[in-house]
Amino acid sequence: MVDTALMPIPGPVDPVPIARAVTPRGDGRTDLLGLPRETIRDLFAAAGLDPRQAKLRAKQVYHWIYHRGATDFAVMTDIAKSMRPWLAERFAIGRPEVIEAQHSIDGTRKWLLRTSDGHDFEMVFIPDADRGTLCVSSQVGCTLNCRFCHTGTMKLVRNLTAGEIVGQVMLARDALGEWPKGAMDVGDEADAASYTADGRLLTNIVMMGMGEPLYNFDNVKAALNIVMDGDGLALSKRRITLSTSGVVPMMARCGEEIGVNLAVSLHATNKQIRDEIVPLNRKYGIEELLEACAAYPGASNARRITFEYVMLKDKNDSDQHARELVELIRRYKLPAKVNLIPFNPWPGAGYDTSTPERVRRFSEIVFEAGISAPVRTPRGRDIDAACGQLKTAAEKKSRAQRDRDARAEVLAH
Ligand code: SAH
Ligand code: SF4
Repeated sequence: MVDTALMPIPGPVDPVPIARAVTPRGDGRTDLLGLPRETIRDLFAAAGLDPRQAKLRAKQVYHWIYHRGATDFAVMTDIAKSMRPWLAERFAIGRPEVIEAQHSIDGTRKWLLRTSDGHDFEMVFIPDADRGTLCVSSQVGCTLNCRFCHTGTMKLVRNLTAGEIVGQVMLARDALGEWPKGAMDVGDEADAASYTADGRLLTNIVMMGMGEPLYNFDNVKAALNIVMDGDGLALSKRRITLSTSGVVPMMARCGEEIGVNLAVSLHATNKQIRDEIVPLNRKYGIEELLEACAAYPGASNARRITFEYVMLKDKNDSDQHARELVELIRRYKLPAKVNLIPFNPWPGAGYDTSTPERVRRFSEIVFEAGISAPVRTPRGRDIDAACGQLKTAAEKKSRAQRDRDARAEVLAH
């Protein structure tokens, strides 16, 4: 058994460092990426525009940035020509830096990205017949150390800013060529409505990349607000799913304040096993977690909570475990579906993948109880793109990254 006794468990307010939301760049300009309309307005006012001008320009610039994907003030045709250089001197519209872009034979795409202060993180795009899902990261690394997760072994952790989170979605739209074309129509409802997910490759977002999104609540909320805003990226909250390992105190706020679909990384049906593989369970146990699920705002039979269950050989994959899972879902009367995820192995993980027969049998037992339990097929294996196991960023370390890790190691002692 893996010894987890000495592992620190972070509190509800995570102690990880956070970059400033409004970031002055090296060239003295301020990056607007990730900022809401009101902050853009305040920055414009502070730079000298009168309040009415600041408000109007903020509305126009917001639309250009998030709805049209503009990265240059020069294209903002409804802003006076003389004003555009004034904006460009003071402000910038950034994107996370792309370090590497990989394309799998099955269509899955993965990007290794870098923050302006040099931290690497990843995002993955998974196309399916009826949808295209972008798997977005919320932190560089993760403080939670789930035993089977490679992200949890990364030493360096910092929250991503709202700009770095929404920047992933924007970068994906850049890469897929999916920004709407045409004239500028600020406030035109019909225009906003026509940019639905239909006809687009990128239709869904899952907060299932690196990190625990509920430990970076404010930035995830700010980013998703822009993603869901009709004048922003205009993606429906029904097409966004946030996955948590079980940060119970933040779950109600997630439903109330963000309103997206919830996925919960359950992975075990009893305390002993969940304590081992998801150490946060020692802080927020299964009962508390499932009560919070039962109370999740917006959950219904039409909008089910997804329980993720990673299949670990001889650990959590027996018939008995499947029956216990059904029993738990029934006991708490949860509108639930189960996602069975074959464990994606990595060197030194200490677990094996359940056999396909075992996964099938487990799925059947849950399914026979009337609960949907699809097996998530691994995608992008040739480029190590499995959602939730974004490992290459940590493996292919640059020298600078190794130095940073070494420094973090020293600081930790
Ligand atoms: N921190 C959040 C979201 C990111 S992890 C959470 O834990 O829910 C996204 C999903 O991938 C989680 O369900 C996680 O348990 C799963 N996952 C992590 N490592 C994995 C691996 N090696 N194989 C299969 N699934 C894994
Ligand atoms: Fe963090 Fe989620 Fe990985 Fe656990 S599974 S270590 S919470 S990213």
